[in-house]
Amino acid sequence: MKSKKIISIVVPIYNELEVLPLFFDRLKSSIEQLTRYEFEIIIVNDGSQDGSYKYLINQKENMSNIVLVDLSRNFGKEAALTAGIDVSIGDALIPIDCDLQDPPEMIRELLIKWESGFDVVEAKRLDRKFDSFFKKYSANFFYAIMNILNKDKISNNVGDFRIIDRKVVENIKLLDERNRYMKGILSWPGFKKNFIEYTREKRAAGKTKFNFFQLSHLAIEGIISFSIAPLKIISFLGLVGIFTSLIFTIIVLFQKILLGNFISGYASLVVIILFLGSIQLLSLGIIGEYIGKIYFEVKRRPIYIIKKIYK
Ligand code: UDP
Ligand code: MG
Repeated sequence: MKSKKIISIVVPIYNELEVLPLFFDRLKSSIEQLTRYEFEIIIVNDGSQDGSYKYLINQKENMSNIVLVDLSRNFGKEAALTAGIDVSIGDALIPIDCDLQDPPEMIRELLIKWESGFDVVEAKRLDRKFDSFFKKYSANFFYAIMNILNKDKISNNVGDFRIIDRKVVENIKLLDERNRYMKGILSWPGFKKNFIEYTREKRAAGKTKFNFFQLSHLAIEGIISFSIAPLKIISFLGLVGIFTSLIFTIIVLFQKILLGNFISGYASLVVIILFLGSIQLLSLGIIGEYIGKIYFEVKRRPIYIIKKIYK
């Protein structure tokens, strides 16, 4: 008899003591029925300080298929997910958040679509009625920019929750950059894709780990690490500036020669200086962002450090 396919479920955990019992309950009951598969549940403890670690060690006693990866400190969700992906051995891999915003019941549907021949099946958020007004609209704005820059390489309203075939996982592992915008990295290899739809639920317990600044940081990271369009835009602005100033010079010279005395325009001078000054600062800032990324890239520090793996 052919042995069962192994499915790796990768869960990054950072200070989630409140929600962990609910998560394991729902995960267990969701995968219990899927007897055709063997599950490898990779829990990555991303330096939790709230007792999550102790809880996970206990949980491991009850569930033999848990692989507990304990990182040496908090490295951030993107790094934790990477650690889980690197450790996994399954025929397919499913990253999932532990706050039940990605419903574990959907694993079944992901598996069905994957079995029907797709290499990647993304779980698309049908509506975000439980997200705050601000988050919903800032997300739409972000996706609009990403779409212009990346032309459909990254799907809208899709998080990390998806199923990824082993052959795609192996290619994802080749992208070992330090700026880890996971949604982009997971999508980058391409392959045969499809999606299922679901309603994004509210966080079941505990608090979100991402505040406004972290989300904006992630958005900038997403744009910078997947495109050099901002650099092209500032070159373009420079060209427009040269062209405009040429025309302006001709007009000014013409007035000077034809009309003689030409002293006026304090207001326009101030406006021009301020405008060009700020464009230059903005351009420097954009270039600086890229240099900063290069700086961290060339250091080639490890993305995460594993303290111990409990198998
Ligand atoms: N997470 C992590 N390390 C961090 C921050 C978050 O492993 O530094 C995990 C967290 O425990 C959760 C997932 O990433 O399982 C998503 O986090 P959260 O729900 O806070 O993000 P949101 O859904 O609000 O974007
Ligand atoms: Mg969440």
